[in-house]
Amino acid sequence: EPPPVTKHIVMLPFMAQGHLIPFIELAHKILNHNPTFTITIANTPLNINYLRSAIANHPSPPSQLHLKPLPFTSSDHHLPPNCENTDGLSLSQVIKLFHASAALETPFRRFISDVVSGEGIPPVCIISDIFMGWANRVAQSFGIVNYSFTTGGAYGTAAYCLIWMHLPHRNLANGGTHNEFPVPGFPESCRFTISQLHQYLQAADGEDEWSRFFQPQISFSLQSNGWLCNTVEEIETLGLEVLRNYIKLPVWCIGPLLPLKMLKNNLGPGIISPRSGKRPGIQPEECIEWLDSHPTRSVIYISFGSQNTISETQMMELAKGLEESKKPFIWVIRPPIGFDIKGDFRPEWLPSGFKDRIGKQGLVVHNWAPQLEILCHRSTGAFLSHCGWNSVMEGLSQGIPLIGWPLAAEQGYNAKMLMEDIGVCVVLAQGVHSRIAKEEVSRVINVVLDKSEGGKGEIMRRKAKELGELIRASIEIDKGSSYIMINDFLTSVLSGVK
Ligand code: UDP
Repeated sequence: EPPPVTKHIVMLPFMAQGHLIPFIELAHKILNHNPTFTITIANTPLNINYLRSAIANHPSPPSQLHLKPLPFTSSDHHLPPNCENTDGLSLSQVIKLFHASAALETPFRRFISDVVSGEGIPPVCIISDIFMGWANRVAQSFGIVNYSFTTGGAYGTAAYCLIWMHLPHRNLANGGTHNEFPVPGFPESCRFTISQLHQYLQAADGEDEWSRFFQPQISFSLQSNGWLCNTVEEIETLGLEVLRNYIKLPVWCIGPLLPLKMLKNNLGPGIISPRSGKRPGIQPEECIEWLDSHPTRSVIYISFGSQNTISETQMMELAKGLEESKKPFIWVIRPPIGFDIKGDFRPEWLPSGFKDRIGKQGLVVHNWAPQLEILCHRSTGAFLSHCGWNSVMEGLSQGIPLIGWPLAAEQGYNAKMLMEDIGVCVVLAQGVHSRIAKEEVSRVINVVLDKSEGGKGEIMRRKAKELGELIRASIEIDKGSSYIMINDFLTSVLSGVK
């Protein structure tokens, strides 16, 4: 019998951990759904190394998943050598990396040209990150279908795109950070505030280097054949309505892009294969053992994602607030803003004697934690998060309410939606300039972890549990909305509809 004809999909993630991880999960999801596909993920050499070890960590690495390094020299773009990922970069470097990512167009085009001209299997489609909008232009020039993938949620993505494209806050008469403004495409009653915008967007005028990157990339992505969104239809009604009205393209909600082990109740918590190729500051086993010794839903987990950190004064107040709250915590710490984020951690960034005093109350993890194992553990009761979308989906899938401290990108919109529309989040602070007081940290933690019946903590937990159930149900074979959407998406891919 001849082997089944393989259909080739080429993927192009943006060069950041929070993008590489969902792309790899998407590749697994597609291959799980239909093993006759072949997938090639293209990226810069160092990111390919990350991906290679992430794939090797997978419980059953699929043989149909390939990696294609695209030549890239960061020093050609005024970046330090070997700088290919937002991980560990300052904001001024991040924007250089964004602009540098567009330089991948030439090697990517060459790669597609090679596969199309017989050195490989011509792709049935290209799935590119919405930040790599130019890939759509490449796909079109070869007559290949292009889908844009947003690793964010629908609401966050819609707000991100609409605000970058229209810069609606520029019309405000005086720029106080609490000034409210409407965003075209969102209901008039749904007001945004300046403080929810990242600092570079607050100052954007359409001519600045951030606008000059995002506006064209979003415009290119609007010309693709459809968008994939890392969300679940049932949890984001408003966001999806706004997104679909805006882009006027099909949107397939194919989330959650999480390891199956997290989503199948009967598998329970425990060790989950790492997905990032990064070495954690603590072994997952050790983390689990620490969590085992705490009561159910009693621990607060604090993490600002893969690339962010807070200011020195905020770090100090957060530490004091955690201590004052008397609640057990796991805190992923990195050097504060203004210091080398990958450098050594100095004790003076924490209150003197902090580690000795907290003893068993807290686990301080340097740089990178086994986040999934922590969120899946029964002892974890709240997640103080920057509201990066992967973290949000990971926490909600386990029914964990959030304390929001958005720092960049679309995180402010995610936090707003989670607080105002869904009621699973309390926003503690916004950005790196937000003043926070230890009393407020301690108060919010106590509210969210509070177990009294009818209290705010319990209401949030109930809501988070409901969402967790919706997220888990969405992957159910033949029935769940995400299962149906991925099926529908792959049917479109196979039919070659443009
Ligand atoms: N992550 C992790 N350990 C850490 C910090 C982050 O495993 O200490 C993972 C986290 O589980 C998530 C991703 O890195 O999958 C971060 O993505 P997110 O969208 O939350 O934030 P970003 O890093 O893009 O700001």
